[in-house]
Amino acid sequence: MPATRKFVTAAEALQTVFGYDSFRGDQAEIIAQVVHGKDAVVLMPTGGGKSLCYQIPSLVREGTGIVVSPLIALMQDQVDALTAVGVRAAFLNSSQDAAARGRVERDYLSGDLDLLYVAPERLSSEATKRFLDQGTIALFAIDEAHCVSQWGHDFRPDYLALSELADRWPDVPRIALTATATDATHQEITTRLQMGDAKHFVASFDRPNIQYRIVGKNEVRKQLLSFIKTEHPSDAGIVYALSRKTVDQTAEFLRQNGLNALPYHAGLDAGLRARTQSRFLREEGVIIVATIAFGMGIDKPDVRFVAHIDLPKSVEGYYQETGRAGRDGAPADAWLAYGLADVVQQRRMIDESPGDLSHRRKLSAHLDAMLALCETVHCRRVNLLRYFGQTSEPCGNCDTCLEPPAAWDGTVPAQKLLSTIVRLLRERNQKFGAGHLIDILRGKETPRATQHGHNALKTWGIGADLSDQQWRGVVRQMLAQGFLATSGEYGTLILTDAAAEVLGGGRSVQLRTEPDRPVRSAAARGS
Ligand code: ADP
Ligand code: ZN
Repeated sequence: MPATRKFVTAAEALQTVFGYDSFRGDQAEIIAQVVHGKDAVVLMPTGGGKSLCYQIPSLVREGTGIVVSPLIALMQDQVDALTAVGVRAAFLNSSQDAAARGRVERDYLSGDLDLLYVAPERLSSEATKRFLDQGTIALFAIDEAHCVSQWGHDFRPDYLALSELADRWPDVPRIALTATATDATHQEITTRLQMGDAKHFVASFDRPNIQYRIVGKNEVRKQLLSFIKTEHPSDAGIVYALSRKTVDQTAEFLRQNGLNALPYHAGLDAGLRARTQSRFLREEGVIIVATIAFGMGIDKPDVRFVAHIDLPKSVEGYYQETGRAGRDGAPADAWLAYGLADVVQQRRMIDESPGDLSHRRKLSAHLDAMLALCETVHCRRVNLLRYFGQTSEPCGNCDTCLEPPAAWDGTVPAQKLLSTIVRLLRERNQKFGAGHLIDILRGKETPRATQHGHNALKTWGIGADLSDQQWRGVVRQMLAQGFLATSGEYGTLILTDAAAEVLGGGRSVQLRTEPDRPVRSAAARGS
C-alpha cells in the first residue's frame, strides 16, 4: 500500500478508478477549479456527469471530500458503487447505529476516507462541525443545490444552514451542483450559499434524444396502454401519477394487459420499495408506475420512456422527471397526457394549500409555466429551454414540430361560455363547475338542469355545435390562458379581467386544435 492513496492528476483518477478515457463537457475545467481550491457552481442536466466533478477532486486533494446530499435512501448505493471501484467512501446519516457511525468517524479522523456523504441536517449541528474540524476536509460538495431555493419546487430548510460553510471554512473549496436551474434558482443558490466568488458552469439543458409529446387526456389509461404497446412493448419506462391510488390502479391495469408494471410510492413498505427499485435496475423491460417519490438519483441508462398521466406541478419537476429517460443518449420518449380536470384540481389544491399568499403565488406561477408548455403551438423544446434561460431553434423532435397544431379562433365559443357564467351569477346567484356549464351549453337535459330550470336560460343549447370533449378542451385552454379561474372546493368557474375583455368583444381567444378533434366547428371556420 502506498503511503497516500491520492492521485496526482485528475486524468489519472478518471482512467484508473472510473475507467473512462476522457472528460465530458465542462468536467475537466470544473474539476481543475475545485482541485485548485476554488469554488464552482455547476448547472448540468441529469445524466450530464455531475458526480465526477466532486468525486475526482476528492481523490486528488488531500483529505476527505464532504458530500451534502438530501438523498439519504441512496447514500448506501452511492457508497457501494464507489467502494466497488476502490474509492474509500462512507456516509453518516440517521439510518446508522452507533457502532457503524463510530467506524466511519474513526476512518475520517485517521485520513482513510476519500469521500464522506452526510445529510444536510447533520452539518448544521455544532457537534458535527467540531468533529469535521479534527480531520482534513478536501472540499464540500453540495449536491441537489436547488434544494436551498425557496423559489424552487424542492425546498429543504436544512439547506439554508449550508450558508455557514463559507464562514466557518473559508479555505475549503465548495462546489454546488444541480440539474434544475432557472435563473431565479441559480441566483438563489449563489446568494444563499455565498458563492459570489465561484466560477459558474452552465451546461446546455437540451436533451436532444428525448422526444417531447403532450396529448389531451381522454381515456388516459387506454391512451397510456396504446402508447406503450405500440412504441415500447418491451422497454423499461417510468409512469408518473400524482396520487398513490392512481399509481396502484394504473400498475394493476397495465399488468392485466400483459405489461411488467410495478407500483412505487411512499405508502408501500421500505423493503418492497427497495426490491421494486432493484428489479427496475437489474431486470429488462420493467415499467415503474410511481409518484414523484421515485427516481431521484436513480441512474438507469436505458429508460426508453417517461410518461406522465397527471399534469406535473412545475416545469422544473417535469424536466427532472422526463430527464430520467434516455441517459444513454439513444432515442427516448417523454409522453404527457393532461386534461381539464388536471387544471381544475391543481388550481384548487393551490387555493387550499397551507402557507401564505406569496407561497400560493409561487405555486400558481409554476403551474402557469407548465400550462404554457402544454398549450404552446410552438416547439416544446424551445419553450422548455427558454424556461431555463436558454435559447434554441425549433427542434424537429417534438410533437408540435412534427405535427404543427393548427390554431383556431375560439372567441365565439369563449363568449358563449363566459356569458353563461355571467348570467347564472347575475340572474340566479349561482356558480357551477365545467361539467354542468358544458351541459347547459350543449342543452343536455340532466336532473340538475331540470331541477334548476336551466333550460330557460338564454344560452341553453347554444353550444351544441361542439362535442363534450371539444368543450372540455376549450375550458381547459381558457383556464390555462387565464380567461377563467376556479374558486372553492368544487372548482366552480369564475371570470377574470381578461374574460371581461373577451365578452366586450375587445379581445379574441386563440385556441390550439386538439389532435383528436374530429371535425372543425362552425366557429373554427370563422362563420
Ligand atoms: P448526473 O449526476 O449529472 O445525473 P452522473 O454523474 O450520474 O450524472 O453521470 C451520468 C452517467 O455518465 C454515469 O453513468 C457516469 O458514470 C457517466 N459518465 C460521467 N462522466 C463520464 C465521462 N467523462 N465519460 C464517460 N462516462 C461518464
Ligand atoms: Zn420541437
